Amino acid sequence: MKKIAVAAIVIAVLIFGAFWLKSDKHFEQQSFLMGTVISEKVYGYNARKASAEAMARIGEIENTMTVNAQGSQAEALNEASGKKSIRLDGDIIEVLETAKKYSSISGGAFDVTVGPLVKAWGISTEHFKIPEKEEIDELLSLVNYNDIYIDSNNGTVRLAREGQAVDLGAIAKGYAADQTIEIYKRWGIKSAYINLGGNVSVLGKKPDGTLWRIGIQNPRAANGKIVGVINIQDKSVVTSGDYERFSEKDNVRYHHILDPHTGYPSGSGLMGATILADSSVAADALSTAVFVLGLEKGIELVESLEGVEAVFITEDKRIYTTSGLKDEFIFDDESKEFQYVQKR
Ligand code: FAD
Ligand code: MG
Repeated sequence: MKKIAVAAIVIAVLIFGAFWLKSDKHFEQQSFLMGTVISEKVYGYNARKASAEAMARIGEIENTMTVNAQGSQAEALNEASGKKSIRLDGDIIEVLETAKKYSSISGGAFDVTVGPLVKAWGISTEHFKIPEKEEIDELLSLVNYNDIYIDSNNGTVRLAREGQAVDLGAIAKGYAADQTIEIYKRWGIKSAYINLGGNVSVLGKKPDGTLWRIGIQNPRAANGKIVGVINIQDKSVVTSGDYERFSEKDNVRYHHILDPHTGYPSGSGLMGATILADSSVAADALSTAVFVLGLEKGIELVESLEGVEAVFITEDKRIYTTSGLKDEFIFDDESKEFQYVQKR
């Protein structure tokens, strides 16, 4: 009798243990940070702990880099513009250095000093307005990434002219995604997925050994309706589009990706630009840059970069991919409105 009882207990412990291990071996959650929904799928022992540390880290990055709340380091930098240098943490200095790099290689199509214009337009906020041309021209004169002076030895940064302001909305999510992947790795995680509002990064393959299947959003359909798929491992896929954040007036759509050369929402002829790269911070900055550059110059820039690929969706519903994706991109448009016309 006694033996049966012991055996029953052992079996119960094994079942519970297996369940417990499994539950701790697979953790999914949605959080809300950086003004966006963050979805995570983390597999491996310590998944829950790895996720908790990652979310705390993203919160820290948001507090440093937001321009949507007082007291951040980005806000302090903007308030000191034209007056003095200020001491900043390593995170934001690294992001500003990366931002300047992508501004330079994109000819200023990506430029975090668009801050004053973003504020003036207030696109996708309750302050939305179409600024007068005079106001835009005045603010445009403040947009210049060369006016960001970084002294990395002393850890200080200065914006050259009063009224200048950085907005890190196009790059800080990518930085946060890269930091998250590093935290997962430190916890021994081998398989994970994180999506920060269209900024996707995956670690390894899926637990069943297959690649992660990332859908490319149909820019004119409900969320989740796709026009194609890319299967990846250990990569980041980031999309910038005219459908994510916009305001409308008199049936005209004003989206949130501004052309730093005109001060208006970019009229590049694209609805969406997706970048595939190893680093998410690079993919984030580049998705915005190539959206502003448009198809021809966007393809040219991406083809010049090692390990970077792109999918472009034009306003006339044509899909183009760069050379490294011609066999990887799986065209899958259930709306039948799009054409996969070009494999570069
Ligand atoms: P992307 O193309 O990656 O970025 C576009 C955003 O970058 C624009 O919204 C604008 O802010 C800026 N931008 C526009 N044109 C350019 C350009 N040519 N070059 C460089 N930058 C440009 N959203 C909220 O609603 N509430 C919040 O409190 C909030 N807090 C945030 C805090 C942080 C730290 C970050 C990173 C984002 C936050 N956001 C918040 C979201 C943010 O306002 C942007 O809307 C979002 O990051 C845009 O990302 P995207 O991938 O959609 O577009
Ligand atoms: Mg971006």
